[in-house]
Amino acid sequence: MVKVLKPKRETKKVPVKESALKKESDVLDPRAESLRILSQFYIGETDLDMKSRQMLIAHGKDVPDGIAALELLKDRVVITEDIDLKLKMYQAIVDLLSVLGMKDDLHTIQEIIARVNLKSFEELGFERVEVECAEDACPTCRKMAGKRMNIEEALSSMPLPCKECTTEKETVQGYCRCRYFAVF
Ligand SMILES: [Zn+2]
Ligand SMILES: [Zn+2]
Repeated sequence: MVKVLKPKRETKKVPVKESALKKESDVLDPRAESLRILSQFYIGETDLDMKSRQMLIAHGKDVPDGIAALELLKDRVVITEDIDLKLKMYQAIVDLLSVLGMKDDLHTIQEIIARVNLKSFEELGFERVEVECAEDACPTCRKMAGKRMNIEEALSSMPLPCKECTTEKETVQGYCRCRYFAVF
């Protein structure tokens, strides 16, 4: 069964005092974030450290934990055949890229996810999709809210992820998390 990837619910940020801004709580710890993301697939600290060592041997220099985690996920995604699990892994890669601030790669993987979703809808016999905006969607994205189009059209023009998105999330500016859902 193909699931429509719903945007994750944001926890509302409680306003903090000026002096408390940009303290540790705001700064993401790439190792902790990597491990949190990897844990969804039962990949643990030992796997991450082993990957880091392999990469150190292969490249002759230390690699950041986030990059090693990214490689681990990429290794897994290519050998995963279950489409739902594959999509979940791609989404995890996107989450990790947002932590690492790698916007271009993030956008590329989001396009892969959008294509897989659109094709799945098509295979299920749907002809049209509707744009569902993320809760934190920017004004540019909001203009597309509820817009319906043929799947063919969506596949050729790829309106999602929105290229002019200005939503800021983690360390990425322009992280569009709007989705398609299938309509009759
Ligand atoms: Zn946007
Ligand atoms: Zn968007």
